[in-house]
Amino acid sequence: MMLNKIRIILVEPSHPGNIGAAARALKNMGLERLYLVKPEFFPHKQAYYRCSRADEILDNAIVTETVDEALIGCGLVIGTSARQRVFPQPMLDPRQMAAKVMAEPDDVEIAILFGTEHSGLDNPTLQKCHFHVFIPSVTGFSSLNLAAAVQVICYEIRMAFLSLLNEPMLPTQKINLATIDELEGLYQHIESTMIAAKFLNPKSPRTMMARLRRLFSRARVDKDDLNLLRGMVAAIQNLVR
Ligand code: SAH
Repeated sequence: MMLNKIRIILVEPSHPGNIGAAARALKNMGLERLYLVKPEFFPHKQAYYRCSRADEILDNAIVTETVDEALIGCGLVIGTSARQRVFPQPMLDPRQMAAKVMAEPDDVEIAILFGTEHSGLDNPTLQKCHFHVFIPSVTGFSSLNLAAAVQVICYEIRMAFLSLLNEPMLPTQKINLATIDELEGLYQHIESTMIAAKFLNPKSPRTMMARLRRLFSRARVDKDDLNLLRGMVAAIQNLVR
């Protein structure tokens, strides 16, 4: 599942600063495709100020005259809304939305729509959406800043994406990990033994111990592993003596 099949579409954004902040949010979370439907001001220096170093997202932003144009080719359309509408589509919270996005087949292009600052998405646009997403803010002050809403949505997509990378999830096994102090004992045991065996020159130790530490850190050594290694090192130590 590649995140670049997701379009973030801002419908009639009126503040160029929000466009820039949204671009930054996309880039922070690994998304790339920004669409702007009839932006009031774009390109605009305020957008570039606020995007930090996400200029390329702004440079590559696709500007359209209509929502329909921005949605061409999309198989899943999600609308974000700060309030309950008269005819709501099925509602999701951002986490459920992200799971849905991740579950889509790879060839489905996905659009996530954000409304204009003063009035949000209009009803005809919301009715084009398969799902509505509501960020569960407090009643009576439910409307987030546009770019902040983009950030929340993109963050949830990223979290879902990151957990997907671990798939398939293995059943958790009980591992009796060696503790850091036990490992420290092992490292010292190896070091002194390798010096005695003349494998390691203490005057020019180079990176051997650092490498071994890194190797064992990667391996997440458990207590049985540790005992095995200690036994092997002890056997070498005896021979050297
Ligand atoms: N006053 C408008 C909200 C505009 S905020 C209204 O009442 O609808 C600008 C946009 O940010 C919204 O259109 C929506 O896309 C997004 N947004 C803001 N708060 C949100 C929330 N709580 N849940 C989902 N989207 C939200």
